[in-house]
Amino acid sequence: MDRETAQKRAEELRALLNRHSYNYYVLDRPEITDAAYDRLYHELKAIEEIYPDLISPDSPTRRVGASPLADFAPHMHRQTMLSLSNAFGPDDLRAFDKRAKRVLGLDAEASIEYLCELKIDGLAVSLTYTDGMLAVGATRGNGIAGEDVTPNLKTIRSIPLRLFGKQAGMPSFVEIRGEVFMLRSEFERVNQEQEEAGQPPFANPRNAAAGSIRQKNSAVTASRKLDFFAYAVGEAAGVSFADQASLLEMLAARGFRTNTHRNLCRGIEEAVLYCEEWRSRKDDLPYDTDGMVVKVNAVDLQRDLGATSREPRWAIAYKYPALRANTVIRDIAVQVGRTGSLTPVAIMDPVEVAGATVSRATLHNEDEIRRKDIRIGDTVIIQRAGEVIPEVVEVVSGARTGEERPFIMPEACPVCGSRVERPEGEVVARCVGLSCPAQVKERILHFASRNAMDIEGLGPAQVDQLTTKSLVRDPADLYYLTLEEMLTLDRMAEKSAGNLLRSIEKSKQVTPERLLFALGIRHVGEHVARIVTRHFGSLERVMAATEEELSRVPEIGPSIARSIATFFSDQENRQVIDKLNGAGLVMQGVREAVKESPGFAGKTFVFTGTFETMTREEAEAAARSLGAHASGSVSKKTDCVVAGPGAGSKLEKARSLGVAVLTETQYRAMIEEANQGDGEAGKEVQLALDME
Ligand code: NAD
Repeated sequence: MDRETAQKRAEELRALLNRHSYNYYVLDRPEITDAAYDRLYHELKAIEEIYPDLISPDSPTRRVGASPLADFAPHMHRQTMLSLSNAFGPDDLRAFDKRAKRVLGLDAEASIEYLCELKIDGLAVSLTYTDGMLAVGATRGNGIAGEDVTPNLKTIRSIPLRLFGKQAGMPSFVEIRGEVFMLRSEFERVNQEQEEAGQPPFANPRNAAAGSIRQKNSAVTASRKLDFFAYAVGEAAGVSFADQASLLEMLAARGFRTNTHRNLCRGIEEAVLYCEEWRSRKDDLPYDTDGMVVKVNAVDLQRDLGATSREPRWAIAYKYPALRANTVIRDIAVQVGRTGSLTPVAIMDPVEVAGATVSRATLHNEDEIRRKDIRIGDTVIIQRAGEVIPEVVEVVSGARTGEERPFIMPEACPVCGSRVERPEGEVVARCVGLSCPAQVKERILHFASRNAMDIEGLGPAQVDQLTTKSLVRDPADLYYLTLEEMLTLDRMAEKSAGNLLRSIEKSKQVTPERLLFALGIRHVGEHVARIVTRHFGSLERVMAATEEELSRVPEIGPSIARSIATFFSDQENRQVIDKLNGAGLVMQGVREAVKESPGFAGKTFVFTGTFETMTREEAEAAARSLGAHASGSVSKKTDCVVAGPGAGSKLEKARSLGVAVLTETQYRAMIEEANQGDGEAGKEVQLALDME
């Protein structure tokens, strides 16, 4: 980048970062995610490293936070409150360690002791105690001056109004630093309250905590449950400590909450391991953490390392990649599913979230779009958790320009032009055209999928061509495909065509429950397919069952029963089944309904908590093989709940409904008794239990 371009970009970035800092620190209403902010920040830092003469004193890389709001009295910190530099991976931590050793004049092989503490995602405050009494509580502000929010901080129970310990040993003056934060559960509650009051919701628990502390009326602060962790001291008269670990112990002894998830690490590699260990562990905490703070433990080394105007050189924040990102919705497309369902999908500017580039996100249905008020052109926050499809969390309403357009569900199917219907009381709109190519394609893809017929090598590209060329109109057609037909597909050579035909052939060996699931009947997922086939014993019997017989199966409600009965009463569907039979499908594991044992027959069991001598699946299989049904939720229809350690809401519900509760030992005894009473069924139980 030449100097002129760099200068222009640096100016742009400074303006952008200052605007976002203002939204974040002053208004508590960020318009972009922290990860997006960090990216802009690092871009500016990189430019300033190449062209140091471009650095201006007001650059966001030189200063902390934002100036205090005039609504509050300013409070001058005796010792400046700093920010932290960031590390985004193990190599950044290693570079930090190397730099520290260089400044301290240590050998490359020497190891520095680091204290790793969770980085609590809240807001930093400073509490001034004189002669042991809380005198002032202030926000960090720009690090030099903060806002005096003493009455608000006094509403937080974990902030002692008087330091613990004898008056004689009390420090005459001390600034205690730490983080005010809000539990995720409280954040949900506060946002619900905001919504009910017609107020905009907070973007995250950090902003909710900051917004609650910076209230003119401390009754509002008191109505929200906030908490505090102490982790540092500023200026302190009559307080001394040798290292960060003993400082935290001293803070705890003085009556502060300190975070117990911390670890003293010998050398940077141990710190890297601890940081990595918490990458996933942090999700189990009831509050947000955005990383780990790695601090040089010894105070004399901290002193030698010193600080810049913005951050100490002895500590660094190890940040975990965000699962959220901001992007813009350019369009909303409509996808047609196998049952004709029309799903709106956001087409967005590509953005990286948790290591993957994302450009589409499901918007579920029209009601969901209205509820979140999502419009085409909106800037939105998207979230990707694990492997699930990304979703739009919320619209950044502050970024609206007025040009955004609302989404309108089409009246005709975008694929086949058939009418679109949305039955009363349902949220999903559907294309009524049964032979809609999009539906056919999705039905076949579902039929071939891993948990259904498991036809390896039959993916969207092949199904697309097979349906477009009308070689396949329904799933049964797959079994009548010839090698010549296969070879007409693009990029299909003799070998791959042969492989595909072999996997189609292999899929003929199938269990009835898989086949029932593969047919793609509305409301029939794997679980329902399993209960129904096990209840009736074979697919033929399921096909022959009336709606009423089906609805007598435990867990099968009227809409599932109606959906199955309607499917099999349809002439076209019957023809597909005949065609499948004609192709020579071999049902595996067809068996008569299980031997029934008193105590189990027709009863519904729910398993919850953890078990010691068997897995939950084994416990369920044992119940099923004795004629009982295993269900996932407790209701009035439940006969018995088997609860192991860690059982929560299901156990509570069982107790409130007066449902019988058994321990694992009692349940085992019951199975053993059934075994003795019924040889046949007993064998099955044993089999089920042996299946590790
Ligand atoms: P920071 O949050 O990266 O790190 C410093 C802060 O960490 C400290 O001030 C303290 O409050 C906190 N902290 C938590 N636990 C700690 C512990 N155990 N020990 C020491 N400190 C601990 O820095 P910052 O200056 O507060 O904020 C900068 C960050 O804020 C950016 O990286 C960005 O993620 C976010 N930000 C976002 C926007 C936005 O628009 N989304 C705007 C401005 C800033």
